[in-house]
Amino acid sequence: MTTETFEFQVEARQLLQLMIHSVYSNKDVFLRELVSNASDALDKLRLEKLRDDSLDADVSDLHIEIDVDKEARTLTVRDNGIGMSYDEVGQLIGTIAKSGTATLLKELKEAKDAAGAEGLIGQFGVGFYSGFMVADEVTLVTRRAGESQGTRWTSRGEATYSLETVEDAPQGTAVTLHLKPADPENQLHDYTSPWKIREIVKRYSDFITWPIRMVPEAADGEDAPEPETLNSMKALWARSRDEVSDDEYHELYKHISHDWREPLETIRLQAEGTFEYQALLFVPSHAPHDLFTRDFRRGVQLYVKRVFIMDDCEALLPPYLRFVKGVVDAQDLSLNVSREILQQDRHIRMMQRRLTKKALSTVKEFMAKDADRYATFWREFGTVLKEGLVTDSENRDAILAVASFATTHADDEPTTLARYVERMKDGQEDIYYITGESRQSIENSPHMEAFRDKGIEVLLLTDAVDEVWVDAVGEYEGKKLRSVAKGEIDLDAKGEEQADGEREKQAEEYAGLLGWMRERLDEDIKEVRLSTRLTVSPACVVSDAHDLTPALENMYRAMGQ
Ligand code: ADP
Ligand code: MG
Repeated sequence: MTTETFEFQVEARQLLQLMIHSVYSNKDVFLRELVSNASDALDKLRLEKLRDDSLDADVSDLHIEIDVDKEARTLTVRDNGIGMSYDEVGQLIGTIAKSGTATLLKELKEAKDAAGAEGLIGQFGVGFYSGFMVADEVTLVTRRAGESQGTRWTSRGEATYSLETVEDAPQGTAVTLHLKPADPENQLHDYTSPWKIREIVKRYSDFITWPIRMVPEAADGEDAPEPETLNSMKALWARSRDEVSDDEYHELYKHISHDWREPLETIRLQAEGTFEYQALLFVPSHAPHDLFTRDFRRGVQLYVKRVFIMDDCEALLPPYLRFVKGVVDAQDLSLNVSREILQQDRHIRMMQRRLTKKALSTVKEFMAKDADRYATFWREFGTVLKEGLVTDSENRDAILAVASFATTHADDEPTTLARYVERMKDGQEDIYYITGESRQSIENSPHMEAFRDKGIEVLLLTDAVDEVWVDAVGEYEGKKLRSVAKGEIDLDAKGEEQADGEREKQAEEYAGLLGWMRERLDEDIKEVRLSTRLTVSPACVVSDAHDLTPALENMYRAMGQ
């Protein structure tokens, strides 16, 4: 049998180095990661068999098994799930396909302290590699269900891994960790102790819906004891709220999101009646790095009567809630349901509406009851939520009610539209805003001069999406949203008739200059006119109320339009 040696992809190697020199202080989580992968593999096999009955695979006793060998200092996590083909092992274990990896690694290197690094690692879900926190060598033997040949993967976590084919591998995957030498000072981290294994599984993996079994080692001269099942296997969303601790919810969140940090909020929803379902949704506490990339995998997990059907089910939440993670378990869908069918299903649309409203009301509750949580939420997810102002007219008001914006009123505290309106000056009829690249650049814009002079508050909008939603929304409680950089703005108009005469006189006086400018700039502009909006700068460029702003022009151009 030939053994082939391969090099890890650069990013994978860097990540492995981090694991080996373990920046992560809680090493116990390696077991959670291996169990999580095993559970995914069992889900996948059950589904594949369901879809294709002719698949030559044994699904009679799907389970996870943990074996320890004190003598050899090894720990093995075994599943009889889907397994991997030779090529898949190379692709899935030898590389990191996730986008944003390079950026993240760069930030990791720059992270000054362990806590910072832990936080960053958490965004990754380093998964399989976490085994190298506790092992100096890892072996994986796997055979894909339906195939006859197996594969052995081995690595010491350095630059290379080796692959060889094996003839007699059982279906599924076994990962064996050759544990680092025992630390006599620290019995707490003895991963060959059944007691320790029991404790970790109970803490991190209790909700896994497959049995996790352990066969304790036989004492000298005795028969091997019966395997014991370590987890309760109860789906958390099917248990009542007061039976489940926050920690348990958080572990489920980590399992499905691959985030190592606690979520910001857990949302439960039970729908009864003709179309029954349960949902457990999580709002993460941090926006993932790739939230605005095209290949961001959005959506929640879909189960049908406790059977896992698919990851990333997009149909259940609108794109602007793509950061929400969770599980939806429906009673009355077919197990064979496909993504295409889901997109068109009437019940799914109803679920989407309900889940969307629930998510938005959760944000509203943050706002009403927990200012810190709201601030975190808006900092992390405000930009993406604002997309909903453009795309979801049904919930526009609900989104507008929980939105907040930087304002000239305060340096570091954003305002809601409601508060802006409360502060509006007597006679002020519109809500003023300015868009641009950064707060600093727009605050110093000449368009702001008159507003600053008169003490009129202006919203400072710096996200690309702002350009779009202000037009789509148009007004708030009967007050127009007006750009200070567009069209004619006459801050003196109200009740100051005599100014009109003044202006006519000025227009005559400056007619020559204006005409001259018009001629010189003919190619580039529509019109030259006198303005009351400036107090210091001699001139500024203004677009028509309905023209594209420069930033938006750039955005459309970048989109190739
Ligand atoms: P993630 O679980 O976030 O995808 P991991 O590093 O944990 O990342 O695993 C990488 C990939 O390796 C998985 O997506 C899966 O395709 C494959 N894999 C890992 N463990 C198993 C297993 N026990 N059985 C089948 N495939 C596995
Ligand atoms: Mg994993």
